[in-house]
Amino acid sequence: MKLYVFDGGRAHLPDLSHLTPDRNFGRPVTIPLFSFLIDHPRGLVVVDTGVDTDDARDPVLEVEPAHRIDRQMQRLGYAPGDVKYVVLTHLHLDHTGGMTLFPDATFIVRRSELRAAWWPDAYERGYDFDNLLAARGFRYLQPPGDEAFDVFEDGSVVCFDTKGHTEGHQSVLVDLPRSGKIVLTGDAVQVAENLTDSVPPGMCWNSQMAVQAIAKLRHLQETGALLIFGHELSLLESLKIAPAYYD
Ligand SMILES: [Zn+2]
Repeated sequence: MKLYVFDGGRAHLPDLSHLTPDRNFGRPVTIPLFSFLIDHPRGLVVVDTGVDTDDARDPVLEVEPAHRIDRQMQRLGYAPGDVKYVVLTHLHLDHTGGMTLFPDATFIVRRSELRAAWWPDAYERGYDFDNLLAARGFRYLQPPGDEAFDVFEDGSVVCFDTKGHTEGHQSVLVDLPRSGKIVLTGDAVQVAENLTDSVPPGMCWNSQMAVQAIAKLRHLQETGALLIFGHELSLLESLKIAPAYYD
């Protein structure tokens, strides 16, 4: 079993307060866009899909065609058509841009997240209706509520509830034979400061639940798991980035 971390490019935000509300005003920040591939004996799993580099409309994005997840997979010798499951931590646009690259996969998205994205409240700014519409006819496995969802029923890839950043946000625990437990937090923790200072991430649906999710993730870290945050730039220095991998 292997876990690959893909570097999907950068976004340049004018203000770190987008990720740490009510603080860090006026501090510009560059954030990475991560996505992941898990090569499990019983099938390939993609976690988050980044942005579609060929259709990147937002001027804050710095992405190249080579960053697109299907091309990164092909360079490693994997066929995107072989992907069995795509887990989306949530449906914000920087995680859903590559959904249509996997039309034959089963998408694992929280039931509440699908509904929140399809009929967002007026203040929600993170969802992209074009992305969602293009994937409307796909196959969705919709774990309900707070239940953990064990993808292969062997404890190796477990999706668990971390709602708060969005209504149906989930994180993914990957348990590897040699590297041990690695947690893909998604945007439950966007930058390290969310975790160290218990500051809810930006564009937050429910701050209280976001802080509860952070506490759950901190517990996993304290019990030995490696946490990979959604948009922490310094991780590019410390993580194994594809073609390197965790096993
Ligand atoms: Zn994000």
